[in-house]
Amino acid sequence: MGQRVGVVGGGQLAWMMGKAAHDLGIDLVVQTPKRSDPAVAVAAETILDAIANAEATAQLAQQCDVITFENEFVDLEALGSLAEQGVKFAPRLSALAPLLDKYHQRQFFRNLGIATPEFEAWGDRSRSDSSLPPSFQFPVVLKARRHGYDGQGTHVLRSANEVQSVLDNQPEVDWLLEAFVPFERELAVMAARFADGSVVVYPVVETQQENQVCCRVMVLPDVPTDVAQQAEAIAQTVLNELEVIGIFGFEFFLTAEGRLLVNEIAPRTHNSGHYTLDACKTSQFEQQLRAVCGLSPGSIQMCCAGAVMVNLLGFELSQSDYQERRTALERIANAHVYWYGKTEARPGRKLGHVTVTLQGKNSSKLRRNADAIAQDVESIWYPSVSS
Ligand code: ADP
Repeated sequence: MGQRVGVVGGGQLAWMMGKAAHDLGIDLVVQTPKRSDPAVAVAAETILDAIANAEATAQLAQQCDVITFENEFVDLEALGSLAEQGVKFAPRLSALAPLLDKYHQRQFFRNLGIATPEFEAWGDRSRSDSSLPPSFQFPVVLKARRHGYDGQGTHVLRSANEVQSVLDNQPEVDWLLEAFVPFERELAVMAARFADGSVVVYPVVETQQENQVCCRVMVLPDVPTDVAQQAEAIAQTVLNELEVIGIFGFEFFLTAEGRLLVNEIAPRTHNSGHYTLDACKTSQFEQQLRAVCGLSPGSIQMCCAGAVMVNLLGFELSQSDYQERRTALERIANAHVYWYGKTEARPGRKLGHVTVTLQGKNSSKLRRNADAIAQDVESIWYPSVSS
């Protein structure tokens, strides 16, 4: 009988594991709060409950051989007692422990000698004192230490008044204060580690965000080799240090001096790796399953010269399935359209994505093509702004 993999979280990441699971003969059992969540459609069984409910994860454990994560907003302490009872988590819980809180993540990097933006916990400072610690100057970034995603909980702030209004509006949140990095580009890489200790690292890609949300990923051969090597080395160090079994996403800032600073690690598949579904021999989703099921690594080789991935973000409150727009997107040459089947669109919500694979040898031509295709996709997807 094929293995049964439990997945905590049933969003689009778990949904995209569906095809790989099917091809590998693996059944997915998903823990997710709503019947309408994307991965329910591909799961053999579903535990309908909150991500952080460890009792639901105990039920999940009864139905599967190993549990992995598509969402890290878990109650790690409560899961700990399941691990003590023999429930197998991949990655193991101690690999998640330093990563779930953004402040702890920063401290973890600092202890490993990995460069990050300057940071400090806001916690001990009075909430009515919005002045910055002496080593900081505006602009700064305030980030919710936990449960931030897609830029929710991340605020770029230019004055003490702006800081005060964030503190006033969300008095219950614990904040991380960070220096604003005037980065040249944002880069990202997916890397997986296997039971035998081997590590595979996918190509380093460029991510582009608007309002702190990723809108595009460019997979192009124009990342300088020494920069790519820095990214790969950081990924290897972190995966080995934490003895990870599974796949992690790494996000970086590239400074004007060619230095990489780690922004964030996601202990799971990641938006910056969606291109692997169509552009690589083994997708990030298959790689995660291969790692957690004790299989050998799949090839990370690209099957095209480059790729561009564009997120289809919600731009209104609606229950539309946007069929017309999706059909138009499918007509773009070499386009692969993924629609997550969410029942409600909200501004900024990730509803789907499009990857277009590219051919050609000339790096600057590939970049121009990728830019033009991204503009095309966005002009089909987003309503035009009338002047
Ligand atoms: P989330 O976990 O919500 O994705 P991130 O910490 O990754 O939040 O931040 C989202 C985006 O905000 C980043 O991709 C980047 O564009 C911007 N950002 C975050 N931190 C900084 C920083 N210290 N300096 C400059 N930009 C930042």
